Amino acid sequence: MSYKNSEKLYKKGQKHLVGAVNSPVRAFASVGGNPLFIESAKGTKITDVDGNKYIDLVLSYGPMILGHRNKKVEKAIKKALKNGYTFGASTKNEIKLAKIVCDAFPGMDKVRFVSSGTEAVLSALRLARAYTGKDKIIKFSGCYHGHSDALLVAAGSGLATLSIPGSKGVPKGAVKNTLIAEYNNLESVKKHIENHKDIAAIIIEPVGGNMGVVIPQDGFLNELKELAKANDILLIADEVMTGFRSKFGGAQELFNVEADITCLGKVIGGGFPVGAYGARNEIMEMVAPLGGMYQAGTLSGNPIAMASGIATLLELKEQNPYGKFNEIGEEIENYLLKSAKKYNVDLVVNRYGSMINPFFTSKKVTDFKSAQTSDTSKFGVFFWEMIRNGVFLPPSQFEAWFLSSELSDKDLEKIEKAIDKAMCSVSG
Ligand code: PLP
Repeated sequence: MSYKNSEKLYKKGQKHLVGAVNSPVRAFASVGGNPLFIESAKGTKITDVDGNKYIDLVLSYGPMILGHRNKKVEKAIKKALKNGYTFGASTKNEIKLAKIVCDAFPGMDKVRFVSSGTEAVLSALRLARAYTGKDKIIKFSGCYHGHSDALLVAAGSGLATLSIPGSKGVPKGAVKNTLIAEYNNLESVKKHIENHKDIAAIIIEPVGGNMGVVIPQDGFLNELKELAKANDILLIADEVMTGFRSKFGGAQELFNVEADITCLGKVIGGGFPVGAYGARNEIMEMVAPLGGMYQAGTLSGNPIAMASGIATLLELKEQNPYGKFNEIGEEIENYLLKSAKKYNVDLVVNRYGSMINPFFTSKKVTDFKSAQTSDTSKFGVFFWEMIRNGVFLPPSQFEAWFLSSELSDKDLEKIEKAIDKAMCSVSG
């Protein structure tokens, strides 16, 4: 397998791009080697600039849930393109996508579309503060909520991958109202509530996806909701990753919990830049132009992104791939465990429907601290052997693998063969 063209582009790209990437998670810092440059993608496969084809388990970090270039989505995008790209005024499709989204999440009467998950979350925090008149927020260690100042504390994703605890350039004042709790640990939340009277919101990834996949323990989310309610604190579910991913109504549907504010992104744009935040009427009516909480965007509700999002969600509804996701996910999970046993490798696998993570550890992974017991050098070996055997994974221990509804039995066979070889390399 040659990566010559990727290597050339990597060298060339460094002149005018920072590290030749536009998002640090795309750098191969934690697995070694150079990042691959991609030429194209179709269905379950992605092809690099050297012509190497891979089964894609990155799926652009989640959005491409139907696989690449789904026919119906592409048709909708082409149709929208003919009408113009952006108008700075409202369109019919914004209303259509808003209805699909609000119907899927019972806690949402109204939604505001923005252009990224980061924007959705930072706006949701502002809204929670506007609604409650309080300033502090609680976030969980290892949860990533985008790169806004107040949330770049104890964050997962690229910060975990690159072992950066926070970020330079964030003023102390910007994080002084951010309190950190431990995932799956209600006591750590209670302590903050006892010590601070002015907590506006608790924000959580209802299934952790940015410290690797971490599942909420039985009752954790419901108890968190009760605790928040009893103390007049809003619960914000950051479902940027989990929304529409393993259930149409996201993790909230799966765990039967209703957040006060929900943040979405990724899948709702079907590959185009969209984020959203939504809540019941009384909360959303705080947002301008109805209320005094200001938030705006030149490209918010962009017509092409709306068309792509509508087509993606309608197709998801029609395909209803969630049962299939569970079956395939379970098969990959079992295969990972079986081959780890065969080669005597310590491995724990966490899975939430179509999001999976193997951790090279013998410890149960229930929070950020236990996720960090994974041997990341083993992951690096595993990653490259998967690449050599035609499976594209996120280049980090702490990023989830994603499944698409297009995955076939043949793809599954190829993934399992690659896992066997990769596990063998780790052992040896
Ligand atoms: N929230 C969660 C849970 C995410 O996983 C991400 C991105 O991965 C974000 C927020 C930020 O979204 P974006 O990268 O679109 O700004």
